[in-house]
Amino acid sequence: MPTRALVGLGSNLGDRCELLRGAVDRMRKLGTLVGMSSLYETDPIGGPRQDAFLNAVAVLDTELTARELLDELLNIERDLGRVRRERWGPRSIDLDLLVFGDESIDEPGLTVPHPRLAERRFVLEPLLEAFPRVEIPGVPDPAGALSAVADQNVRRLESPGVRSLKRAMWVAVGGLLVVILALGLLNS
Ligand code: ATP
Ligand code: CA
Ligand code: CA
Repeated sequence: MPTRALVGLGSNLGDRCELLRGAVDRMRKLGTLVGMSSLYETDPIGGPRQDAFLNAVAVLDTELTARELLDELLNIERDLGRVRRERWGPRSIDLDLLVFGDESIDEPGLTVPHPRLAERRFVLEPLLEAFPRVEIPGVPDPAGALSAVADQNVRRLESPGVRSLKRAMWVAVGGLLVVILALGLLNS
C-alpha cells in the first residue's frame, strides 16, 4: 500500500521555474505524482533580505518510507545545486516533506508533519489546493489555520495554459458582442 506524501517545493535563486520543474521531474521516479498545486509567488519570511520565492506543493503516492523519501528529496536538492549557507537564506531549491500519510515522526533529522507548516500561508494554500481533503496530524483544522495566516503575502500565478484560455474566451465574448450589436443595428 503506497503512502500519500505532500512535498513542499520552494526556490528563490536562479531560474526558479526551471528548478521547480527539474525537481518535479525527478520526484516522478519516487512514486506516482497524483496532484500538483499552482505556482505561488511569496515574499520571504525570516532570514536575510532576499528575492521572492516560487512555491508549490506536490502530492506523491510512494512505497518509500518517510526517511527514504526525505533522503531522496535531499539528493534532488543536491542534484539541483542547493548549497546550505545561512539558515532560511536564499536557495535554488528547497524540498520539505510536509505530510506523510497519518504518520507523526520526531527523529533526529526528520520531523513530520513539518513543524512549521501551519504558520505558513505559502505552504497551507498550495497544500489545500493540491489536496483539499488532507488530514494533517496535529493540525485538526487546516482551513482555519490558513485563515489565521491570511495576512501573509502570497500570489497565485496563472499557468500559461489558463492565461491563453482566458484570452481566447475574451476574444470569443468580444466577437459575440460585435455580432449582437451588428444584428441590433440591422434590425433598427
Ligand atoms: P524550514 O525547515 O523552516 O522550512 P529549511 O527548509 O530552510 O527551513 P533546511 O536547511 O532545508 O531547512 O533543512 C534542514 C534540515 O531539516 C534538513 O537537513 C533535514 O534533515 C531536516 N528536516 C527535518 N524534518 C524535515 C522535513 N519534514 N522535511 C525536510 N527537512 C526536514
Ligand atoms: Ca523549507
Ligand atoms: Ca528544507
